[in-house]
Amino acid sequence: MSSEFFIPDTIQKAIKIKEETKKTFFLGGGTTLNSWTKNTGSKNLICLKKLGLKNIERKNGYIYIDSMVTMTEMTKNPILADNLPLSEIVKSCHIVSKNIRNMATVGGIIASRYTRSDFIPLFLVLDAEILYEAPDGEHLDPIEEYYENPPSKTMLIKQLVLKEDHEPFFFKTKRYARSSNDLPIIKVAVFFRPEGVAMKNIRIAVGGLYDKSMRLYELEKLLEGKDYTDTDLRKIISEKLNEMPPARNDFRGSGDFRKSLVSAFLEDILTSAVKGDSVE
Ligand SMILES: Cc1cc2nc3c(=O)[nH]c(=O)nc-3n(C[C@H](O)[C@H](O)[C@H](O)COP(=O)(O)OP(=O)(O)OC[C@H]3O[C@@H](n4cnc5c(N)ncnc54)[C@H](O)[C@@H]3O)c2cc1C
Repeated sequence: MSSEFFIPDTIQKAIKIKEETKKTFFLGGGTTLNSWTKNTGSKNLICLKKLGLKNIERKNGYIYIDSMVTMTEMTKNPILADNLPLSEIVKSCHIVSKNIRNMATVGGIIASRYTRSDFIPLFLVLDAEILYEAPDGEHLDPIEEYYENPPSKTMLIKQLVLKEDHEPFFFKTKRYARSSNDLPIIKVAVFFRPEGVAMKNIRIAVGGLYDKSMRLYELEKLLEGKDYTDTDLRKIISEKLNEMPPARNDFRGSGDFRKSLVSAFLEDILTSAVKGDSVE
C-alpha cells in the first residue's frame, strides 16, 4: 500500500524527493513493487511517468533505451527488431504474460536485480551500460559494475545503453522455467566471435545459479579460442561447473539440478553453433 504518491516533472525533483522522504521507491510499472511478498509496510512512491523517459534512440553506433520503456514497447520498436544481436532482447520480452509485458519497464528490470532474470544475463554478455542520475550528478557505468557495487539508493536509472554490433558474432540464449508465465529457474546467454570454428572473445552469463546473474569468467577462460565443434568441450564445461561452489537450492530446483541445466544448455548452444544457428 502506498501512503504518499509523488509525480515530479524533472529528474532532479525526483532525486530530491527520494533523498528527503523515508521508505520511498521509484515507480516503474509496479510489477515488482506490487508483488513483494515480504511485509515492507506502507511505502511512498515516486511516479516516473512525467520525466519523459520513453524513447528508444540510435546514435553514433549506440542504442539508448529509456528506463520507462515497457517490454511491449520494446517488442514493437523497429530499431531493436532490425538490430542483431539486440533483437534477442525483444525475443525475451515475449516470454512473460501480456499484463506484465504492458507494465514492466527497462528501469524496473534492471533495478529489481532478480537473479532469475530473462534479461540481465543478456545485458551482461552484450556489455551493456547504465546511465543513471544520482545526487552528485550523472553516471555511466558498465552494467556489471552496477550489480557488483550497487550505487546509492537514490540513483535513478535513465537509460540502458547498448553498442550496435556489425562484426560477425554468435549469440544464443536458453531458459528453463516451471511455466511460460514464471521467472526462469535458469537462463544462459552465450556470445562469441567465430573465427573459423574458433570461439574468440567468448562471454557466458547465467541467471538463477547463484544470488545474482553473473559472467562465468573462469569457464570463459577455459573455452576461449577453442573449436566449438570439439566434443571434449562438454567435459570441460561439466568439470568446471562441478568445481564451482554449490548453487542455489530451493523448492524450484536443487543446486545440482541447476548446474546440470547450465551444463546441458551450454552443450546445446554449442551444438547449435555447429549447425550454424545464430552465427551472423
Ligand atoms: C507474474 C510475474 C511474472 C514474471 N515473469 C518474469 C519472467 O518470466 N522473466 C523475467 O525476466 N522477469 C519476470 N518477472 C519480473 C519482471 O520482469 C519485473 O517484475 C519487472 O521487470 C519490473 O519492472 P517494473 O517496471 O514493473 O518495476 P517496478 O515494480 O516499478 O520497480 C521494481 C524496482 O525497481 C525500482 N525502479 C523502477 N524503475 C526505476 C528506475 N528508473 N530507476 C531506479 N529504480 C527503479 C523500484 O523502485 C523497485 O525497487 C515477472 C514478474 C511478475 C510479477
